[in-house]
Formats: sequence, structure tokens, C-alpha cells
Amino acid sequence: MYWMEKELELMADASLERSLRTSNSVSGSPGYTLRGEQVLLNMSSNDYLGLSQHPAILEVMREALLTEGAGSGASRHVTGNHMSYRRLEEALTDWQNCEAALVFANGYMANSGVISALVDRGDVVFSDKLNHASMVDGIVLSRAEHARYRHNDMEHLRTLLNKYRDKRRKLIVTDSVFSMDGDQAPLRVLAELKREYGAMLMVDEAHSGGIYGGRGEGLCHELGLQNDVDIHMGTFSKSFGVYGAYICGSRTLIRWLVNKARPLIYSTALPPSIVAGISKSLDLVQKEHWRRERLYAAAGLFRSSLCDAGFNIGAGNSPIVPLIVGDNDTALRFSRALEEEGIIAVAIRPPTVPDGTARIRFSLSAVHTDKELINAAERIHSIGLRLRVLSP
Ligand SMILES: *Cc1c(COP(=O)(O)O)cnc(C)c1O
Repeated sequence: MYWMEKELELMADASLERSLRTSNSVSGSPGYTLRGEQVLLNMSSNDYLGLSQHPAILEVMREALLTEGAGSGASRHVTGNHMSYRRLEEALTDWQNCEAALVFANGYMANSGVISALVDRGDVVFSDKLNHASMVDGIVLSRAEHARYRHNDMEHLRTLLNKYRDKRRKLIVTDSVFSMDGDQAPLRVLAELKREYGAMLMVDEAHSGGIYGGRGEGLCHELGLQNDVDIHMGTFSKSFGVYGAYICGSRTLIRWLVNKARPLIYSTALPPSIVAGISKSLDLVQKEHWRRERLYAAAGLFRSSLCDAGFNIGAGNSPIVPLIVGDNDTALRFSRALEEEGIIAVAIRPPTVPDGTARIRFSLSAVHTDKELINAAERIHSIGLRLRVLSP
């Protein structure tokens, strides 16, 4: 397999090769991570609310593990659909104020499985160019036409909607908060366009579920648009600190997905302990509003520190803060320098982001303190000067 070695060599030369590194949790300190002997401030985790080590979640998971066992044993369609699923899906329906909900094993499977269940040859999916890869893969699997519109460019979307007017089913899909940029989709305009053109609208709230809305319902609720969204998706792996994903929508939608979503049908159900952990986490997400308040405050402080220092951090205002450096090699050196200073913040390079927009992606958490963030911003500033990302 010489071709592989050759391709990998080319990737390495362009600072594009990735390798897996190990990190360990620091018990009781979700804001930190261990690499070897070194304890580092973790600014790359999606544990936005700091729930991943919450004692109440761990307690119900331990209990479920001991009573129900390590694995679920089968697909939800066979004997893997434990009672804990029913309870969780009822709680989700209540939380989202929707007709029905369905839990998937993870966000990747939810997106790829749902999109490929909704459209087929002869249909079309309109998708933002910066949408998450799991949606892109769902579109490819579906065999529908893939109409990509420029990031958040509603005029471009309208042009494509006109172009594909005569397709049978039309689906518009978008992230609500974009995972690598931290900016928001123009959901209001998307809702208008979907009505005007008779399309379905699917919104991925992976980075906004738990974070926006009075009970963490997500950005659609915060904007009062929940009834305009036909397929509402989110994950339990980020703000919820556990694992898994949800789809909320009409009874008919869920009934369709139970019959058509292949990752649900042909894959083993989540372990009962995970489902129990998610239920507890959902309780906490709704009740502990202070976590959201703290997260907004942390994001505001960190964003303004980087902005004042003169960095390009894009247009968002979410807890995802991209520090755009452009060049792949500079991004890697920046990330390594941060690690030497005790901070984990990974370099994100193409193809995850467009060419020439390599960046350090910081994600904030409710557990980060002001002191930690101010300290981090100072170190980031001096590395920025040293690597000439900032002009002196
Ligand atoms: C993380 C993420 C997913 C995938 O969710 P997992 O549960 O990690 O598989 C899907 N969509 C977006 C926007 C994400 O950021």
C-alpha cells in the first residue's frame, strides 16, 4: 500500500496530518485535562456546562450499571429498548414542548440516519457550506441532490431554492451555532424561506442545546421559532456531558424515523446506564440556569480579552471562540506553544475548515473561572506576538 505512504507524506508536509493523542480526565475538575504528567487547562472540550463529572449523574449511572448491566444487548427494535428510553423520551417531549422525541446513539448517527431517511433520489437538500460533516454524510447517503449555499448567505439559498423548485421533496439543513466558527444561522430567514418554498427545515442544535433558552431548549426556542422547525436535533455529548442524541418533532416524523432511520434499526441501543445518565443530566440542564449565566459571562470576558488584544475571532458571540491564524503550520505551532503554557486548545485545519482559515478553537465552560480566563488570555497574547499572528 505504497500509495498510502505517499499520500500521508504529502499531508505531513502540508501540516495536515492528524494523529491521536491521549488525554485523561482530572477527577473532580472538569475544566482540566491530563496529558502525561502535565495538568492542563482544557479549552477544547464541549462540556459547556461542566456537567461531565456531576455527582448526581455519576450516581444514577453507577446504579443503572449495577442493576441493568454493561450493555443493552440488542437494537431498540429487538430487546434493547429498556424502560429508561421511554422515560427519557417523555421528558424530552415535555422539555421541547413537541409531540414526540427519539433518542439516537450519537449525533453523527442521528444526522446521517435522519437525513437519509427523509430524502431520496429526485429530492434536494439545501445545506450551509459550513454544516457539520455528519449532515453532509447523511446527504451523500440519501442520494438526493446536494445544493450547498455559501455560509449564512440567504440570497444564495434563495437562488438555489428557485433553481430546484421542481424537485419532489426539499429539505433545508443547518447548524444553529456553527461548530468551528461559533456564529449563528439566520434562523428567522430560514423559517421564512422554508415556508415560502414548501421545504422542510432541520436544525442541528449540537452547540446550542443546553445553552440557549430559559430551560436550555436551544436557540430555536430562544428565538421563538420552535414551531417553524420540522426536525429539531441535538446531542447529549456536549452541554449534557454524557453521550447520545435526540430528534424532536411531530408524532408522524418520529413514527417515520422508527421505521426508516437505519442507524436506529441496525445498531445496538445505548447502554441503560448512559440513558439513565442523560435523564439526570436533562433535569440538571433545565434546573441549573446559573450554569448558563456563568457560561455567557465566561464567553463575554474571554472574547473581549482576545478582541482587545487585536486577534481575529470572527463574528459570533457563543462559547465557541475561533482564533483565526490562516496558515496551517502557524496554527499547529500556536497550539503547541499553548500546551507548553499549560493550556489545551487544538488547532483546527482543513478539511474541517476552509483552506487558509486554520485556527485555534477555544470552547469555554461554566467551570472556567475569571482568573483562569484572564491568565489564559495573557498567555495567548504573548504567543500571538511571538508567532507574529499579531503585529507588535
Ligand atoms: C458534535 C456534533 C455532532 C455529532 O454529535 P456526536 O454526538 O458527537 O456524534 C453533530 N453535529 C454538530 C454540529 C456537532 O458539533
